[in-house]
Amino acid sequence: MLDFLGDLRRTHMCGALRASEAGKKAVLMGWVNRRRDHGNLLFVDLRDRSGVTQVVINAERNAVIHEKAEALRNEYVIAVTGTVKLRDANTVNPNMPTGEVELVAEELRILNESKLPPFLPSDTALTNEETRLKYRYIDLRRDVMQFNIELRHKVAKAIRDYLSAQGFFEIETPFMTRSTPEGARDYLVPSRVQPGTFYALPQSPQLFKQILMISGFDKYFQIVRCFRDEDLRADRQPEFTQIDLEMSYPQPERVWEVVEGFLTAAFRAAGSEIKTPFPRMDYDEAIRLYGIDKPDLRLPAFTDVRECFAPENLQQLAVNTNLPVVAIRIPKLGELSRAERDSIKPLFVSKGGAKVFEDFKRIEKNFPEAAAKIVAKSGVEAGDLIVIVAGSAQTVSAQTEAQTAVPVPPHRKVTPQELAIYASAGLLRLALAQKYAERHGIFKKTGDPEKDFRFLWVTNFPMFEWDEGEKQWNAAHHPFTSPHEEDMPKLETGVESLNDPQSALSSVRALAYDVVLNGTELGSGSIRIHRQDVQRRIFRALGMTEEEARARFGFFLEALEYGTPPHGGIALGLDRIVMILAGAESLREVIPFPKTARAVDLMVDAPTPVGEKQLRELGIVVKK
Ligand code: ASP
Repeated sequence: MLDFLGDLRRTHMCGALRASEAGKKAVLMGWVNRRRDHGNLLFVDLRDRSGVTQVVINAERNAVIHEKAEALRNEYVIAVTGTVKLRDANTVNPNMPTGEVELVAEELRILNESKLPPFLPSDTALTNEETRLKYRYIDLRRDVMQFNIELRHKVAKAIRDYLSAQGFFEIETPFMTRSTPEGARDYLVPSRVQPGTFYALPQSPQLFKQILMISGFDKYFQIVRCFRDEDLRADRQPEFTQIDLEMSYPQPERVWEVVEGFLTAAFRAAGSEIKTPFPRMDYDEAIRLYGIDKPDLRLPAFTDVRECFAPENLQQLAVNTNLPVVAIRIPKLGELSRAERDSIKPLFVSKGGAKVFEDFKRIEKNFPEAAAKIVAKSGVEAGDLIVIVAGSAQTVSAQTEAQTAVPVPPHRKVTPQELAIYASAGLLRLALAQKYAERHGIFKKTGDPEKDFRFLWVTNFPMFEWDEGEKQWNAAHHPFTSPHEEDMPKLETGVESLNDPQSALSSVRALAYDVVLNGTELGSGSIRIHRQDVQRRIFRALGMTEEEARARFGFFLEALEYGTPPHGGIALGLDRIVMILAGAESLREVIPFPKTARAVDLMVDAPTPVGEKQLRELGIVVKK
């Protein structure tokens, strides 16, 4: 019963038929999206990736086809030859691009049948995600997924075209390599030829792209898969795609200019004109104003309202007068009920003794003067929510002691104690904004790209990050990031500094930068170290001995000795960019074959155990 395609050639895409084609012949091929049986008249909505066209099969005109069409079911694959006809005025469907026409069938071939799928691409209600992922090929037929995957293609192509036009070469780097420096867990691949040894899948092409600069390719890019064995969240995947680039001799501003250029091209491909250059903000300023290193500029910054209170007010409130007192403002919430005000406190996560005053009404009642000043200073308007975060007085003595003992390191404007207050306030600010998103409507798209897409460069990150668990310094970005020239001498402080969270290492700034969009980090990069002696000093500061550094990155340290040009670059997450452009909730909506939160591919059922023979060849014994 199934017909061979034979001499038939598809002449049109299903979504492309228009009134101008009326009277012409067309051959359409696609899936039966829906079938409506009106006795002598049978309507088939025929679907391919471009859209849907209505096919009419009329028993009076063509009894043979009509009989054949009776057998059609959802998701059968068919070919229809016919004549394009204008629909009667009363049956025109203005909601369909092809709504003015229909194809009157003259020949019908059933190319393949389909079992009844567990859900239909045309279903309006979404089935559960596990079923969608198991039957991904059905799920991908849905128009939203077709749109997202096409968008991904367009965005990637715009980026490729832009970078190629700027003189960048797309150069591939290996997937089977050794551990790279991003610091997540590696995915390992056992070697059969050398049992007991392993390749690591790259967490990024970091060292290869730097070596490409040493190799003389002074502008490199790659849209490349990276692999990190991390605990997964909604916006993480074990394998994800980076837009990775590196160039020789750039100032940071040159890298930013290139990124702004390809993002403009990418957003244009998705229909949005964005404005460049993006604003820039120092890391310290981001912390002071937003309590986070990836500020969402759609929401107002904090106001420091310490000065609004008289000293005795602060004493009465048991607030540490040496630490910032921060007002968080969430606009346009309207009056909150008692219960709503009570639900603010549980959202607060206190770091380093930070405390919250969630009931501004009470502050207004008890400290009317201070409240009036706060309202004026933070620009509060009717209906705005104001919440105050401050340091608790209980920590006063310990902290003043610590503060007098350790002066604020030069170049670092935010002390660790202040950071705790800002960070607590930053988290609460986001939690409140998310909780009341419906009410303030700030996250809703307006159609104006300048309002909808708030980009930002965050610059001058700290070079090192204190790991409280391991009691050691880690590279905040990665160990190949260049410190600020002026901060280099701080790397020379003695071995004690390696075990001291307050040491001069805390104030070393890196030539590192992040590009942020609406509070999401899109990418990170840096100017790199190009001198072997500096690289050695960084490894030392990270507590790595010469031997350890050689064992991990020896090949790279050697390469650095052969005339390395100054260089720098960045990598941005393609999946995230497409997710934002698609307005999707999860990365899985823009990755054709994603993994679940448990790192499982439900369609192919991976990972799986492998046979004894394969394990034996690899010299692997699996512990039961
Ligand atoms: N390799 C870095 C990362 O994946 C990005 C960069 O420094 O270019 O985070």
